[in-house]
Amino acid sequence: MTDDPRRLVPRTDDVLASPLLTAAMSALPRAVVKAAVAQAQDRVRRGKLDPASVATAAAAALHSSSLRRVINATGVVLHTNLGRAPLSAAARAALLDAAAYTDVEFDLSTGQRATRGRGAIAALLSAVPAAGDALIVNNGAAALLLAATALAAGREIVISRGELVEIGDGFRLPELLVSTGARLREVGTTNRTSLRDYTDAIGPETGAVVKVHPSNFQIVGYTSAVSVRELATLAVPVIVDIGSGLLAPDPLLPDEPDATSSLHAGAALVTASGDKLLGGPQAGLVLGDVGLVQRLRQHPLARALRADKLTLAAIEATVRAANTPTYDSLHADPAVLHSRAEQLVLALVAAGIDARTVGSAGAVGGGGAPGVELAGSAVSLPSSYAAPLRDEAIVGRTLHDRCLLDLRCVPIESDEAVLAAVLAVATCMS
Ligand SMILES: *Cc1c(COP(=O)(O)O)cnc(C)c1O
Repeated sequence: MTDDPRRLVPRTDDVLASPLLTAAMSALPRAVVKAAVAQAQDRVRRGKLDPASVATAAAAALHSSSLRRVINATGVVLHTNLGRAPLSAAARAALLDAAAYTDVEFDLSTGQRATRGRGAIAALLSAVPAAGDALIVNNGAAALLLAATALAAGREIVISRGELVEIGDGFRLPELLVSTGARLREVGTTNRTSLRDYTDAIGPETGAVVKVHPSNFQIVGYTSAVSVRELATLAVPVIVDIGSGLLAPDPLLPDEPDATSSLHAGAALVTASGDKLLGGPQAGLVLGDVGLVQRLRQHPLARALRADKLTLAAIEATVRAANTPTYDSLHADPAVLHSRAEQLVLALVAAGIDARTVGSAGAVGGGGAPGVELAGSAVSLPSSYAAPLRDEAIVGRTLHDRCLLDLRCVPIESDEAVLAAVLAVATCMS
């Protein structure tokens, strides 16, 4: 009878006394904490939770937001459904500071009003000296919206038919551009566009040429596109939507455009996301010509799209820090990933679990670098582990009827938590 789960349920008072619940007990009404404990005890009774994890589960349930911290074992670095880029320790610390009253628009030395986001802008300009000025808005789409509105509302945007792309979840760039009140003047064909196509289309009605990085697909074969350098010879401003937010080239991703190279090639404005390859918070960056950035800053729409103080703080910390978790995951050493997987597998096999180390192809994700496969390693488990591991907020990838835990995006200090969770799931399933 000892393995009747009901007999293993820890007593409520013992759980409430756990150090894991001390913070919750002092911040929340006792009845709320008790209800969370009761729910966790119920999961033990249903065989869904290890009895030893009741306090942990209750503490997790008592977090003040419904968003849960997740271990990303998918191998996809910028997983849109998992919130794209995880923030660096520096950016997290900056968020906490900025969450209080902060001098976001105030100069403590003079007591006067100061430019919003000046620290983040300065950080961007020192990271991208080719940019005359910078502006930070809500996301990449907002950056492009603002640039297109300020330069081309009521006029024409010249754009290649090969760059009329859908970014994801029904987000179609041409529709965004048209919503600004600009008319699209499409040039070239899906696979080939020449400089001549642009030259023929440009006239007094042209507000801007927009060049979009087709970030989530590849066209191969008989193709040609016009480089930023060639477009910059035209007599109109060129807005380059690079998408990913790389500030400088990354040899690992030779096909990803970056802000520095695009500006050197003559882009008037570059727009990008903060939470893709830059590895920061959700934000949109506009970098480029001083006069044009100023025009965008003064446009009424800028107020509606502006970034909040938390974003500004996290962008600044991200740009100033040497590396981000995104960078580290992308550049993880395959040998290290392999030995981490081997160590986990060793411990799991010793516990009688059907686990093995397998090669695993990770991806950049977030709609970026579609042709790039990142060679790594995963712990392969029976597919029946996938759902209970998700209950523990560990998200793997199911492939060929196995549940793969790819370690590329798992912080090394979380390996122990992964091991403990798999062991706990195995105990529950046996
Ligand atoms: C991702 C992306 C966007 C949209 O950026 P968000 O930050 O998601 O709004 C726009 N253009 C390109 C090329 C992209 O890759």
